Amino acid sequence: MSLPVVAIIGRPNVGKSTLVNRLSGMMESIVHDEPGVTRDRTYREAFWRDRDFLVVDTGGLVFDDDTEFLPLIREQALMALAEASAAIFVVDGQAGPTTADETIASWLRQQSVPILLAVNKCESPEQGLIQAAEFWNLGLGEPFPVSGIHGNGTGELLDQLVVYLPETTEVEAIEEIKVAIVGRPNVGKSSLLNAFVGESRAIVSPISGTTRDTIDMVVERKEQRYRLIDTAGIRKKKQVEYGPEFFGINRAFKAIRRADVVLLVIDALDGVTEQDQKLAGRIAEDGRACVIVVNKWDAVEKDSYTIYDSENHLKDRLHFTDWAETIHVSALTGQRVEKILELVNTAAEQHKRRVSTSVVNEVLEEAIGWHTPPTTRQGRQGKIYYGTQVTAQPPAIALFVNDPKLFNDNYRRYIERQFRQQLGFTGTPIRFFWRGKKLREAERNSPNRATRV
Ligand code: GDP
Ligand code: GDP
Repeated sequence: MSLPVVAIIGRPNVGKSTLVNRLSGMMESIVHDEPGVTRDRTYREAFWRDRDFLVVDTGGLVFDDDTEFLPLIREQALMALAEASAAIFVVDGQAGPTTADETIASWLRQQSVPILLAVNKCESPEQGLIQAAEFWNLGLGEPFPVSGIHGNGTGELLDQLVVYLPETTEVEAIEEIKVAIVGRPNVGKSSLLNAFVGESRAIVSPISGTTRDTIDMVVERKEQRYRLIDTAGIRKKKQVEYGPEFFGINRAFKAIRRADVVLLVIDALDGVTEQDQKLAGRIAEDGRACVIVVNKWDAVEKDSYTIYDSENHLKDRLHFTDWAETIHVSALTGQRVEKILELVNTAAEQHKRRVSTSVVNEVLEEAIGWHTPPTTRQGRQGKIYYGTQVTAQPPAIALFVNDPKLFNDNYRRYIERQFRQQLGFTGTPIRFFWRGKKLREAERNSPNRATRV
């Protein structure tokens, strides 16, 4: 089965290959090479959510008339576009729109393929929105600020991209929660998987016919479907294939990226290790919901303090995911295993939760009331004008302020803690964007600006 193709287009040096590397997760194998004019056309496998696709870098598009190879280069791009389900037009947000961008854009507007406009090199979320806004007049719809180097914004870009790609899964009727089971070797991942799957008839659903041996399993409980991601990776006996040291961290990272909720499985006998912390860090960074599953609880000698000590140990060592609920289970005896799915439900719900702007601002007003923003020695005081939730999965809250530099880490953490305390969001990370005045001016007409300090 052939995969849908996504063509990457843009003039040289805007960061196309960097972005391709980023989108295909760096570690994917190169599937196919074809000699081209400017450089080899390289197809890379990538996936996002439940869609698999190939990304092809078309090479630098030059429309300069004295370029000798112009017709050939155009032909290359046309060939790439002809087979593509969608294209990403990459421009340089730091350089701003150029004549070459405009030429390419007007050519792209005549093509029948859906085009997404990626404004690259936007490392800063605040600046990025402003940089991206400059590209509206290319006439290709909403510009997406991204950074191929840092990865920010690529999630939103991919979310939009997959809308244009044909589905590659069969089971998609009921809304499912995508669950990744990750953890070090031997913590009991496959035992847990068996416990879930043993309970009900599982549907094995390979995601598309790629070379990758990725297999998902779908289980159902009380009308809710759970897609257990990359169960082939869980079942694979890594010890045999790669030796006991092999951790399979990239495979875990990919599973995390595809998941709504990640089960981070910890061995109760070993406690939290550095590798567990690394996984927790990635879960938070990727904005995934999480449940911490402490397995092999049957093997722990307990007294009345044991659970309390364990909770403290987890809090101490897993601060990246300190918002996640924890559960102590035994995959061996089945104790509390079913309860895990209830926590998954909560985490998934909170992950996609949206709160109204008025609630966000009530929390802000209350927080500022207790603790006013800091003032610099020169007498400049931070002011928060208003806040609003800009996205879900994970929830992200933008705070519009006079100058982000006036808010030190302490104060930011205070405000962020207040949101957590007032709004809960148990099981999901929350993102915060502190946006400066420039942007606020652009939104001067927003009806929601209120809450002055
Ligand atoms: P291509 O010719 O379009 O494939 O561009 P490359 O991927 O080779 O990148 C061109 C230059 O831009 C390199 O020096 C990259 O390091 C730089 N670059 C690529 N992506 C980013 C980014 O997201 N931010 C910044 N600041 N620089 C980038
Ligand atoms: P994976 O490598 O993370 O998939 O771990 P496995 O599921 O293969 O389990 C590794 C070992 O731990 C096996 O010997 C299991 O029998 C054992 N194990 C798994 N879950 C439990 C548990 O809840 N309690 C105890 N005592 N042993 C367990």
